[in-house]
Amino acid sequence: MCSTPSLRPMFSFSGWVIDNIDIDWGSSTAVVDLRRDGRIQQIKCSRCLHTVGKMREKVRTVQDLPFGTIDVRIRFTAYQGRCSKCGQIKTLTLPGLTPKAQATDRLKQHVSHLCRYMPSDKVPEFIATSHDTARRWDKEMLLKTLPAPNLDDIRALLIDEKSIGKGHHYLTVVLNADTGETLFLGEGKRKATLDMFLASLSLKQRASIECVGIDRGGSYKASVKEYLPDADIVFDKFHIIANYNEVIDKIRRREWRQAEVDDKPFIKGQRFNLFRNPENLTPKRETSLNELLSMNEDLNQAYILKDMLRQLWTYTYKACASKFLDKWIELAKDTGIDELKRFAKGLNRAKEGLLSYCHHRITSAKIEAFNGVIKRIVYKACGYNDLEYLYLKIRQESLK
Ligand SMILES: [Zn+2]
Repeated sequence: MCSTPSLRPMFSFSGWVIDNIDIDWGSSTAVVDLRRDGRIQQIKCSRCLHTVGKMREKVRTVQDLPFGTIDVRIRFTAYQGRCSKCGQIKTLTLPGLTPKAQATDRLKQHVSHLCRYMPSDKVPEFIATSHDTARRWDKEMLLKTLPAPNLDDIRALLIDEKSIGKGHHYLTVVLNADTGETLFLGEGKRKATLDMFLASLSLKQRASIECVGIDRGGSYKASVKEYLPDADIVFDKFHIIANYNEVIDKIRRREWRQAEVDDKPFIKGQRFNLFRNPENLTPKRETSLNELLSMNEDLNQAYILKDMLRQLWTYTYKACASKFLDKWIELAKDTGIDELKRFAKGLNRAKEGLLSYCHHRITSAKIEAFNGVIKRIVYKACGYNDLEYLYLKIRQESLK
């Protein structure tokens, strides 16, 4: 026994029925003709519910989800009429279709889904559309479906700058530190950029924010002080460690300049090993690093202090952390190494922001993890010319 299932459920637009399906196997295209189901639909004025007299008819064709490799178009007649009672213009078209749409929402949604997992310029290999249109539909669907950022009852914010693309193109990113949700993306890394976001928060929204994680340098601090005077600033752990790695690198370069010609390549090759945490080194790299440290006193001291510094973020009690930090600063100064002395002074100035970590325990790990995501998105979807699209794509990933 054989049964032929109806195609009706695939084209179940409320108020419309299938009139005809025409498949051209040669060109792999199908046209599905839909007509109004006259029994259930009269054109009613949306304002006064008076029946609208027919005025104009227009045959429209829109692209729909493909049928395997067959490109599908839906053809139907759109009606437009004027209410004889109140004069309101009424357009009758397929449900969910905007007046000028060239495709159904379900096709756009499908394209948007593809854009999440493949570079958008590959979409035309699967759907009969252009690269630009694929991006436009993706953006349209994201605008329609992504919820607005939740700005209420936020406890902690993370703020960081991201450099994207070639040259010095900077963006400011704001995340909810607890949920990882992207709340804002702004052009530039100045105070004014962050001001834009913080000023947009209501007083109640600002009041709930207890702490803000930022980099020690940069111009965000002034903005936070101005708009969130009661929030604690937490200087971010990852930035401090990165700053310290730069200090180690300065010492390494100085040692390299002073080294014998034969030793130079060896010192040069150790940059990576010095930056890595010791637990992440292979035995071979560890041996090589130990050799370097044993023949180089300054680097050795700097390296030991790095390992110690990381302990700062293990304390829960502020008093203990404070004591530890003072000790570290003392040790760094005692080395007599200029680069370390300077760094220690800087930490001393940033003490409050470092110790507030004990209480709030936020780091930019969530934002750092985003570097890869942003790179992938820029590569896959949009470049960075359309900031709004980039923001939507980043938000989409952060809402997983
Ligand atoms: Zn009316």
